[in-house]
Amino acid sequence: MEATGFVQVAFLLPGMPKRYGLTVIMLGRPGSGKGTQAFMLAYKLSARAFGTGELLRGLAREKSFLGKKVDGLLAKGNLVPSWLASFVWIRELGKVQPHEPLIFDGSPRTLGEAKMLDEVLLWYGRAKRAVFLIDISPRESLRRLKNRRICVGCKRPLFLRKGLDVARQCVNCGGRLIRRSDDTPLIIRKRLKIFEKDLTPVIKYYRSQNTLRVIDGQKDQGSVSQEIFNIAKRWNKKS
Ligand SMILES: [Zn+2]
Repeated sequence: MEATGFVQVAFLLPGMPKRYGLTVIMLGRPGSGKGTQAFMLAYKLSARAFGTGELLRGLAREKSFLGKKVDGLLAKGNLVPSWLASFVWIRELGKVQPHEPLIFDGSPRTLGEAKMLDEVLLWYGRAKRAVFLIDISPRESLRRLKNRRICVGCKRPLFLRKGLDVARQCVNCGGRLIRRSDDTPLIIRKRLKIFEKDLTPVIKYYRSQNTLRVIDGQKDQGSVSQEIFNIAKRWNKKS
């Protein structure tokens, strides 16, 4: 494996623990299943998983000025400013030990955030990193999100199928199912446009560092999960 600039710089920093935890970054179009895959991988690796979207939606539920402002942005399908997205995960990162494996779901969203994330990870002493792109077409993304419902209890997604759209309860915990406020066709199209514009340079950036692995997201959830786990396991063993 070719050494990347990222790793070379990391080895120069003094006072780092000998064994770092792997940092995994999950990228993919809305509806690619990256949240579910992050959750499954976190379980298999005993890793922490951060969903930036989930952290921001938590913020949006707060009755503060900030909460209301974030709520308004998310409901329109707009991105929150980079500094705010970064703030929520930098705050979470401080609670994690350097040896613990860690998974980012939904971040970085722009090239600026990707570069900042590198800087922050390096500062925290986390040099090992694997980036997965769970690849689905824009058409598949639209199809999935139109039929997606979220459980208010366990927050898991459920996809309605023809003839089964009477489902009102979560199969996992019996919780009530709701449509996310940004899962409407108009807003999904907007989110897809944002993905093409902002994530294309991010993907290019990670590809140039030789840390990007593209996974076929049209395959079933179990195979996708196994493929990701096999790669992550290998990377996690590296010292
Ligand atoms: Zn549930």
